[in-house]
Amino acid sequence: MRSTIPIFDGHNDVLLRLFDKHSARVERLFLEGENDGQLDLPRARQGGFAGGMFAIFVSSEDAPDDLDDLMRGESYDVALPRMISAERALPATLAMAAILLRIERQSAGRFKICRNAKEIRSCLASGVIGAVMHIEGAEPIDADLNSLDVLQAAGLRSIGLVWSRPNIFGHGVPFRFPSTPDTGPGLTDLGKELVKACNERRILIDLSHLNEQGFWDVARLSNAPLIATHSNAYAICPHARNLTDAQLSAVRDSGGMIGINFATCFLRPDGQIDTNTGLDILIRHLDHLIQQVGVNCIGFGSDFDGAKVPEAIRDVSGLGNLRDALSARGFSDALLRQFCHENWINVLERTWGS
Ligand code: ZN
Repeated sequence: MRSTIPIFDGHNDVLLRLFDKHSARVERLFLEGENDGQLDLPRARQGGFAGGMFAIFVSSEDAPDDLDDLMRGESYDVALPRMISAERALPATLAMAAILLRIERQSAGRFKICRNAKEIRSCLASGVIGAVMHIEGAEPIDADLNSLDVLQAAGLRSIGLVWSRPNIFGHGVPFRFPSTPDTGPGLTDLGKELVKACNERRILIDLSHLNEQGFWDVARLSNAPLIATHSNAYAICPHARNLTDAQLSAVRDSGGMIGINFATCFLRPDGQIDTNTGLDILIRHLDHLIQQVGVNCIGFGSDFDGAKVPEAIRDVSGLGNLRDALSARGFSDALLRQFCHENWINVLERTWGS
């Protein structure tokens, strides 16, 4: 029989996709489903998607129209957009947080913003989609951390200190291939203070998009498990966005977590965006991660609505094909449950407290 183990996922960008429509009805589009993008509620149910981190990401005005077009050829190095201020980032952040809150309110109990691990577990048991509010890039956070406290009260539980673009808290990795993640300076003094502030408030600090220096800054300063919500193994795909074996060991030693990213450019050994990519390559990353971090620190971080993923998955409704590939590889249902949601919920509990 086909496995239907629900998948809790480390990263998606559906809020940005909806925000970019500039329409008043985007919540209905998500709840009723639409023929666009990779994630909405009907397709989530079809694919056995139990929920995950819902990212709020503020686009740059000077960003290239299509990042994907620039990530081609044997090697590439995409210039990062300029810094954006909290004054510019905050209104867009509030708009995307509001979309998430309205989806919950209009969902008639089918979608819930979760603020602790217990709520995620109960969503999982009752078939409700459980969402965690996440910020990808701390641009909306001001130096006085006022917006941090207000956003936490609104449900924020996870922050990526940087997206790849630099900000007042630190420097990120460029979209560079092939390249190690050691691409420049790490956290600023304010960034180090933000790590402390997140620890005090028990907000998850996401390491995906940090460069290696920034990663080690967090590893040294943070008292929480080291978590990369949507990153892969550098040993298989030498992209600056992926994690070296030394970084993976640090994640393991902290009782942390890696969410395997479905983006083909972070999966394929040649770093290319090509949806004609077999799930065998994703399993190669999984096998390598098992070797490096063991079976307790691995989950998924799809990047749905933010990346081109293998055709075999295509969108959230295709998650069944991923489960099938894992079963065919010989993983037991107990192990599948760990990868699909248990490891995520356990590490969130260790991070947030119960
Ligand atoms: Zn990302």
